[in-house]
Amino acid sequence: MRKRLIAGNWKMNGSAAASRELVAGIVDGLGAAEGPETLVCPPFPYLAAVAAQAEGTPLAVGAQNVSEHASGAYTGETAPAMLVDVGCRYVIVGHSERRSLYGETSAQVAAKYAAAQSAGLTPILCVGESLAERESGATEDVVAEQLDAVLAHSGVASLAKAVVAYEPVWAIGTGRVATPEQAQDVHAFIRGRVADGDAGVAAGLRLLYGGSMKGDNAPGLLAMPDIDGGLIGGASLKAADFLAIVAAAATN
Ligand code: PEP
Repeated sequence: MRKRLIAGNWKMNGSAAASRELVAGIVDGLGAAEGPETLVCPPFPYLAAVAAQAEGTPLAVGAQNVSEHASGAYTGETAPAMLVDVGCRYVIVGHSERRSLYGETSAQVAAKYAAAQSAGLTPILCVGESLAERESGATEDVVAEQLDAVLAHSGVASLAKAVVAYEPVWAIGTGRVATPEQAQDVHAFIRGRVADGDAGVAAGLRLLYGGSMKGDNAPGLLAMPDIDGGLIGGASLKAADFLAIVAAAATN
């Protein structure tokens, strides 16, 4: 049985005070009951404070991006070991906003994934197609290219210590959620492609869905056999909204 994971991607939102309040609200709501693993990914300036606040609670902390380099003359970048140093356990790599707004290629994302793992972080590899790609029937080709770059760079065994998030670009921040069947189809495709390399790794791989997931649509998505959790943007910015998805993951 794969442990469910509900991860919040705060993107570039909030403040020191708002992040303190949000983490307090989430930790409060998580309580003692056994539920999914939970994770928040705040903006870089708040990582250390959020990690300190979350220490000793069930809430894990991750970053939204990382450098593929270990140290040196890379102004503005953050090394994987620095994230570990301030208490991160996870890092998102290849979010569609990084790919489309900052020109990250699948090769660069694969390098970031490998660098993160080398430092002991668990990468959350984001893959997903644009609306035009879906409408032209290219969804599987796009997802395969993004996944294969990591498989070629790090090997299928590396996925035993990683998470993959399927995030259709057309569903991110749009309120237009994929249907459970649409998401399940792509999740099954991803798991099948990994199984071609290693069936055991594929069976244990956690696959998150991301794209306008909310408390009301989460139960349907999480009922699908290959959807193991969610990567949540907008609904991770309010404790009650995030906790509603956590609750759905605990019971579906
Ligand atoms: C995301 O940013 O990864 C995301 C899924 O955003 P939203 O939930 O707002 O669509």
